[in-house]
Amino acid sequence: MILILLGPPGAGKGTQAKLLTQAYGIPHISTGDMFRDHKARGTELGKKIQAIMDAGELVTDEITNALVKDRLARSDVTKGFILDGYPRTIAQAEYLEQLLRRRTGFCDKDGTALVQRDDDKPENVKKRMQEYADKTWPLKRFYQERGKVAEVEGVGTPEGILAATQLALGARR
Ligand code: AMP
Repeated sequence: MILILLGPPGAGKGTQAKLLTQAYGIPHISTGDMFRDHKARGTELGKKIQAIMDAGELVTDEITNALVKDRLARSDVTKGFILDGYPRTIAQAEYLEQLLRRRTGFCDKDGTALVQRDDDKPENVKKRMQEYADKTWPLKRFYQERGKVAEVEGVGTPEGILAATQLALGARR
């Protein structure tokens, strides 16, 4: 199963992704966590994206797609995975479709360490909401046209939302 969690910043996608990972036994892939990890380790990529992330803007599709391509080449994704925070633009969604068509699974390297978020400042949240409205919201239609949307209201306890999500996924099958 391949699950894409689509929702605005602060909707609780990360929390649900962790619960869904346990429920379905498939890995949680968060481009935000991967970027934060690069920042924390001070890699070349981390330095490149630091200012963009701090401003609450989206990292370029080129950089983000390359990161996801590498991640999906690892062996733990063969049974499926949960994407949290990717795709975020139509261009990323189109890239993902193409990637999934060609998917083979091998190679492994690990390491997404959890680091504390420093991109939750109010002015930054505002920008992230705007980026969501402008660039990510259109993805709902993109996936609706492909019959791939299950909608869940992210209100209530994490466990309650998980149950609603599982119900919605069951209803889609
Ligand atoms: P998140 O934790 O998913 O909210 O991501 C934190 C930040 O990482 C975002 O505000 C963006 O700057 C960057 N980011 C994460 N995922 C993506 C993506 N799919 N496309 C572009 N930028 C991203």
